Amino acid sequence: MSNIKVSIITIGDELLIGQTIDTNSAWIAQKLNALGIDVIRRVAVGDDKLAITSALDEELSKSAIVLITGGLGPTADDITKPLLCEYFGGKLVVDEIVLAHIVDIFTRRNRPFLDRNMKQAELPDNCTVLFNKMGTAPGMWFDKDGKIIIAMPGVPFEMMSIMEDEVLPRFEKQFISDALLHYSVITAGEGESFIAEKIQDIEESLPVHIKLAYLPGAGNVKLRLTGRGKDPLALSVELDKYQKQLAERLRNIVVALEDIPMEQVIAKILLEKNASIGFAESCTGGNLGHLITQIPGATDFFCGSIVSYREEIKKNVLGVKQETLDNNGVISEQTAIEMVQGAIRVLNCDYALSVTGLLGPASDDDEVEVGTVWMAVADKAGTIKTKKFRFYYDRLRNKEMAVQAAFRMIHKFLLGDL
Ligand code: AMP
Ligand code: MG
Repeated sequence: MSNIKVSIITIGDELLIGQTIDTNSAWIAQKLNALGIDVIRRVAVGDDKLAITSALDEELSKSAIVLITGGLGPTADDITKPLLCEYFGGKLVVDEIVLAHIVDIFTRRNRPFLDRNMKQAELPDNCTVLFNKMGTAPGMWFDKDGKIIIAMPGVPFEMMSIMEDEVLPRFEKQFISDALLHYSVITAGEGESFIAEKIQDIEESLPVHIKLAYLPGAGNVKLRLTGRGKDPLALSVELDKYQKQLAERLRNIVVALEDIPMEQVIAKILLEKNASIGFAESCTGGNLGHLITQIPGATDFFCGSIVSYREEIKKNVLGVKQETLDNNGVISEQTAIEMVQGAIRVLNCDYALSVTGLLGPASDDDEVEVGTVWMAVADKAGTIKTKKFRFYYDRLRNKEMAVQAAFRMIHKFLLGDL
């Protein structure tokens, strides 16, 4: 069991004025947590020498490892590198590999190479350089008096790539002796308190080396079992047993036994059936199509999505009848039915889902309450199921909830469970 303590210092004036949200710390903490390494403190400071130095002093007095992001750019406000060089008593020297990489980036992008870019290849001679394949500012690893200090750029995808390629593998080698395994049970449609009630006895029966985490999302709750042990094989047998117990107890709401999003669960079923799906989206504005196309190779099971926002599009493209709109309203079961029939016809898909709703904040429709959403799901043979939902949050969250509800509805329909 590791009890190494880590502090994270994020640097940047933009963090302090709230212009940039510190997503770096959250991401790093999640990654370290998955390795069983504890983040004990997170600190944000501005691009200011005194503030950075005192944060370093303070965190080094509390933690064995200090991770820093930000302030490594090519502009004058980025002072982390010279500061760290001075702090650890090194001097800046050109790193030829980094220089070649930076020159290559500029040549490929056909951009002029400036002196300040050249400076990015200058690195303290007392650090291990952490190569940044995504950008021009490398990370730096300093060992000092038994402590480790790592500095990385603030740009999230650059930081993530350095963490994944350079930092986490070293941490694993250096600090993790036990095997650490994660087993997931993904549920949809019930809240975490309900789940906690249902599985209380299983949770209480877990041995100390197996922990259960509840990770709630929009309409989903992920349960993650994390086990630690000397023998990975014995540990996996044990985790498998608890995963099965949880899945059995929650069988009505379990959608997957691996940590994948709902759209991927659906994609797998469609691929197994060799079938395709399409959408007729109104209030979700293309989000269903967006999420499903996040999956590589989506062409194999996804035909397309018609974002039919205005009434004309619902009529002219999907074939919703004027009479239906007049008599039942845009947000109605009958409109959803005609939309889904239109999607099957126009997109020529095996399955389709339609969604029409009012997400708020205001309603210009006396008949329909804010948060009302109608959905219909259908197959080519003509089976149609409909469902009315009511969401109670703000517009954005209602949209997220509608998207997740849509995926859940498709999932159930595909399994013949709706
Ligand atoms: P820097 O390495 O300081 O030049 O950071 C470059 C950019 O990365 C900033 O302008 C921010 O947009 C972003 N950034 C910096 N720190 C963070 C952070 N802690 N979380 C998310 N984004 C960040
Ligand atoms: Mg900065």
